[in-house]
Amino acid sequence: MREIRALFRRFLKPYRTSIVMNIVYNFLSALFGVFSFAALIPVLGILFKTESVVPEACPWWPLDIETLKHNLSYLVSYIIERNGDVNALIFIGLFLLLMTLLKVGFAYLASRTTVTIRNGVVLDIRRKLYRKMLSLPLGFFTDERKGDLLARMTGDVLEIENSIMSSLDMLFKNPIIILASLVTMIILSWQLTLFVFLMLPVSGLLIGRIGKSLKKQSRAGQTKQGEIVSILDEDITGLRVIKAFTAEPKAIERFDRESFRYRKIMNHLMNRYFLAHPVSEFLGTAVILIVLWYGGRLILSGNSALAPEAFIGYLTFFYTIINPAKALSTAWYSVEKGMASIERIDKILLQDNPITEKPDAIQQPDFKQCIRFNDVSFCYENDYVLNNICLTIKKGQTVAFVGKSGAGKSTLVDLLPRFWDVTTGSITIDGIDIRDMSIHGLRNLMGNVNQEPILFNDTFFNNIAFGVSHTTEEAVISAAQIANAHDFIMASANGYQTNIGDRGDKLSGGQKQRISIARAILKNPPVLILDEATSALDTESERLVQDALDRLMQNRTSLVIAHRLSTIRNADLICVLDSGRIVETGTHDELMSQKGSYFRLQSMQSF
Ligand code: ADP
Repeated sequence: MREIRALFRRFLKPYRTSIVMNIVYNFLSALFGVFSFAALIPVLGILFKTESVVPEACPWWPLDIETLKHNLSYLVSYIIERNGDVNALIFIGLFLLLMTLLKVGFAYLASRTTVTIRNGVVLDIRRKLYRKMLSLPLGFFTDERKGDLLARMTGDVLEIENSIMSSLDMLFKNPIIILASLVTMIILSWQLTLFVFLMLPVSGLLIGRIGKSLKKQSRAGQTKQGEIVSILDEDITGLRVIKAFTAEPKAIERFDRESFRYRKIMNHLMNRYFLAHPVSEFLGTAVILIVLWYGGRLILSGNSALAPEAFIGYLTFFYTIINPAKALSTAWYSVEKGMASIERIDKILLQDNPITEKPDAIQQPDFKQCIRFNDVSFCYENDYVLNNICLTIKKGQTVAFVGKSGAGKSTLVDLLPRFWDVTTGSITIDGIDIRDMSIHGLRNLMGNVNQEPILFNDTFFNNIAFGVSHTTEEAVISAAQIANAHDFIMASANGYQTNIGDRGDKLSGGQKQRISIARAILKNPPVLILDEATSALDTESERLVQDALDRLMQNRTSLVIAHRLSTIRNADLICVLDSGRIVETGTHDELMSQKGSYFRLQSMQSF
């Protein structure tokens, strides 16, 4: 029950009106359901002549069961008398039909309200998850598997949807039907009903036991599902490598292994899940038998108030209770499964974001003088990967970072846009700590060109215009021209409206690079961060890209990570990093004459 309350508090608040309407419709539907069958009882009595014909109506007040029964019997007698038995049957049949129409009609309206609720809830959770996902720091994603996150966004959200639907049924639909039937049953014979009730806890206990391990297994199933999506994602991305290394058997083995595990978990889970139905059906039948035996004895003994036709009516109501009661147990299982999924999406929704923004953060920071790293140290987990970095970058300078792989170059430049926060020390722009600026404002000062250009499955135009909110066609074209991209874009089938495929797969490495440079040119940020932008290209592409980069870097402050030392010869400042420390700084000529680490790196490259 606590779990259902949590579900409601968190996901169903905006749908209060729909829920109220749902209750009203369900109530009406149950009411007409009861009416339709209750009307049959006196008819049966009079037709089978176990009840005498009622010649006269009595006053409606007081409006109690006896008056109702009496007047209903009178009505039936009257119809039989006027129209004959057979016509009366048709008449009553039509009445039953009308009642049933109302019953199913309201049931349909109730279902419609649940449609509003379920799709609304799914929409809300997805939107919330997506926004949260975008706000989380990059570090979160290095710890989680991509496929598992995808599974949470899709599969788990659906589980929660099911769970919410089940709990709606559980709280509003089934109880109303059960209650309506139960009240009628008590009116018909309270002894029998008491007897039935004594047997219910036994059934409940059995069903509860089955549901117990369902949550745990469901969680395991969803986790496995996430792993499978991860594998799929990795393998589709890495298909080229799999084929080149003829690693298909290995990939298949890995995929099969996880799929078989998933099957095992799901077999367990579903076998248990489906146990709910037969168990409750069997228990239901057993209870009916006992009721039949007990009620039959009451009637046969001749000294009970229960008439045979009322007993038949009673059994009918009992039957109407069994289905919703069964549904109740199945619904309980769905709620349990949904709870497991809620725990999984909560790992995203309730994730703390360590990259925080102060309430009085500077919204649109300026950059006029310099960027400063003040004794910055940083560790991802335990070991420091940057130690006591002190560095001043004046506006307009190009600063290059060189060093062996793993020296900490990427980490260093990631600190500036606050993809990570410094562990100790601080970074300031014009003397203001970057943690005092709004994240949006800070990142607006910067443009990125990465080693692996990050493009989206969209048109050239939209990929270039990605970082700006309003732009014109002229601006995009002019950016592309500066980035040496205009010609090959125009040579493609639909010019700027050509789709570039998944991650730009329809383009060459150099072309992708130039698109991402055009993107940076269009954004026109004062600070540029370039990550080994030309390292994976042939000489011709490199020349085009380098040319584009040179234009991009004009009049800007640039932080460049480069392996090709030839490309940074003109940098204003070169920092040589080694094991997270800056070991040398200076211009190319200065460092060459020092004959230190930079000199050694140079000689290794020229060799
Ligand atoms: P470079 O760019 O000079 O090749 P990096 O900055 O990428 O070096 O890496 C510096 C060190 O930090 C390496 O030892 C690397 O293993 C480690 N590292 C990089 N990214 C992460 C991460 N997300 N989590 C933990 N350690 C990391």
